[in-house]
Amino acid sequence: MSLAEKIILSIAIPIPVDRLFDYLAPNSVNIEKLSPGIRVKVPFGKSFKIGIIIELKNSSDSPANKLKHVEEILDASPLLLENDLKLLHWAHRYYHHPIGDVFTSALPTALRKGKSSALSSTPYYELSLLGSKFDLALFKNAHKQRALFELIAKQKHPISQKEISSHFRLWQSSVKALLKKELIQLCEPTQKTAPLEKQTPLPANTEQQVAIEHIRKNNMHFSVSLLDGVTGSGKTEVYLQSIQAILNKGQQVLVLLPEITLTPQLESRFNARFSTKIETFHSKHTETQRRNAWLNMQQKKSLILLGTRSALLTPCPNLGMIILDEEHDASFKQQEGFRFSARDVAIVRAKMLNIPIILGSATPSLESLYNVQQKRYTRLALLQRAGSATPPILSLLDVRNQYLQEGLSPTLIKMIKSTLAKNEQVLLFLNRRGFSPTLICHSCGWTAQCKRCDANLVVHYQQQKLRCHHCASEQFLIKSCPACKSEELKPLGLGTERVEYALNSLFPGKKAVRLDRDSTQRKGSLEEQLSAINSGQVDIILGTQMLAKGHHFPNVTLVALLDVDSGLFSIDFHAAEKLAQLIIQVAGRAGREHKKGHVVMQTRQPEHPLLNTLIQQGYSHFAQAALAERKEAQLPPYTYQALLRATATEPQLALEFLSEVSLTISKQAFHTLLLGPVPAPMPKRAGQYRYQLLLQNEQRKSLHLLLNAIVPEISKLKLARKVKWSLDIDPIDLY
Ligand code: ADP
Ligand code: ZN
Ligand code: ZN
Repeated sequence: MSLAEKIILSIAIPIPVDRLFDYLAPNSVNIEKLSPGIRVKVPFGKSFKIGIIIELKNSSDSPANKLKHVEEILDASPLLLENDLKLLHWAHRYYHHPIGDVFTSALPTALRKGKSSALSSTPYYELSLLGSKFDLALFKNAHKQRALFELIAKQKHPISQKEISSHFRLWQSSVKALLKKELIQLCEPTQKTAPLEKQTPLPANTEQQVAIEHIRKNNMHFSVSLLDGVTGSGKTEVYLQSIQAILNKGQQVLVLLPEITLTPQLESRFNARFSTKIETFHSKHTETQRRNAWLNMQQKKSLILLGTRSALLTPCPNLGMIILDEEHDASFKQQEGFRFSARDVAIVRAKMLNIPIILGSATPSLESLYNVQQKRYTRLALLQRAGSATPPILSLLDVRNQYLQEGLSPTLIKMIKSTLAKNEQVLLFLNRRGFSPTLICHSCGWTAQCKRCDANLVVHYQQQKLRCHHCASEQFLIKSCPACKSEELKPLGLGTERVEYALNSLFPGKKAVRLDRDSTQRKGSLEEQLSAINSGQVDIILGTQMLAKGHHFPNVTLVALLDVDSGLFSIDFHAAEKLAQLIIQVAGRAGREHKKGHVVMQTRQPEHPLLNTLIQQGYSHFAQAALAERKEAQLPPYTYQALLRATATEPQLALEFLSEVSLTISKQAFHTLLLGPVPAPMPKRAGQYRYQLLLQNEQRKSLHLLLNAIVPEISKLKLARKVKWSLDIDPIDLY
């Protein structure tokens, strides 16, 4: 037998089974060229799958006559490099998630599907040395050549054929002529010179200076800096200056942001500062755009990647720093499939690479503040707003016994009027989309319920629909009660759509825009609305938590939270932290430049301790108090949790399955507290009954030792095939 026949490849394949699959290398291939991190196409069941080589070995546990050959080797060199593989192995162990899913999740969709990993070789052009000294007058009557030459000359990057086509038609012969005259030359897509700073940095204020200095001093090794800066304190400026120091060393930088903050606004701030190409990676991009951004980083063609959670695992062979903005944001945790925390994995990545990581937020998570207490992170505080902006004034507006017009109290209406009279903008926040969360019959009390979920159907008046916000169910808005035939159906409660109607009649002649998931579905519509706001065409901005993040609306001076009470009563222990963060983030949209900002919160709980601590003493105090409560109650971050969820079409299946798991666990010692099985807070969703079992331990290590022992046992349970189950490590949502 030849060597080629003997070599066995362990392949990670994206299926929900936690094991690798052995294949024989193709006969024709040069073994020397194979290594972990290369993609392969393999026969699997009746079809083919794309997988990743994890290991090369000489023997397999499967009988030799059962082994199939790899169908095709897809890459000439590994896509995932040694450090990436090491991180993914860690993530696989830590999250106890099927290995194939973990490894393939590092690839962008196009590459997961088996598309080519070769970057397109469209020609790029730049001026030659001769060209850079050329006198334009010498073009004489060659107008087209001259125009083309001028276009190429004014680029900061080499220009591609495609870009030229967007400026000129029928330019090919002119390019040929310029090439022949050696005024321009073919080149690589990115410039070779060190990236220069285009726009000079803002002169940092004292607090920013301290932060930048600290980061710069520690940028040669692993360190976690928590940039705890109030909204508008200039955190972005600190990032930009810290990034510059890394670029100067010729290294790459990975910047992670919550999905919605990745606005063109931020991208253009980066573009304005650096003359190196900025790659972006988020869900609004096409598969090809994401693939190209990924490959440009992987091949060191680009130095900066701005991306969301899914960009975290992008290979950056020369990574010098990671920045994670709005580190408290829940969107950094993947809530389905491979349930990883991009923040936590980013920290591990930085540690493995021995590079610095900056976590930034105006409302740091309790975990991160705890890590500061434990001296694992360094807190860098920015307590003042940058430039001339001052912090907004927060106050509670007691609306008990007040007559509310679609949720707006008379005092609030007055405040809105006087703000608008000064030609300033108002921002109204309500975290509920649709017209009203309930449709109720005034005659018999019937309410519209989702048949597949334990939830009300939400009235969407504009589209004349009743919609479930938890599954895809929807139906036409009915006119009479199905129970008693009465036509007295009333929308109960308040959604953004309903407030929008009210605003139009309360403030005639004023322009209101609504920003929520419904109004921004069309690609580009969020951008359009944001630019209308910033160019002053909008008087009132109304929206959901979409408004809480990152936006800089300089002319907003009044922010009102219409209903904070609904957030005060939740059974999830994370709820108080999330509500406090949301309030402070929304409040932070007020008075971001020289005009003073006011924030009012309508409440029927004006004595509520959370609201009062937050308003009178600020987020920091709130967080310290909340941490003390967590400690008292022995909750994370003082303990470690894992949540086992099971769903089934019949409730008893899910319950029995978790009871069996619970029994298996209690046979092992490990001092782990078991809570449940209990029905999930929403016991039925999309036709599935949901139960959960919470595991809690004071030691992270003990919890994981237990999981190592029991996860394989769980998969072997008979019921495991009749239910859908998942494991969520460090859950942030107990829904
Ligand atoms: P954050 O990210 O902390 O909310 P930003 O970085 O968006 O804050 O900064 C808020 C505003 O302050 C921006 O308009 C920014 O240009 C400005 N700014 C930041 N740093 C300075 C500075 N040192 N001097 C003057 N203006 C600054
Ligand atoms: Zn009725
Ligand atoms: Zn539903």
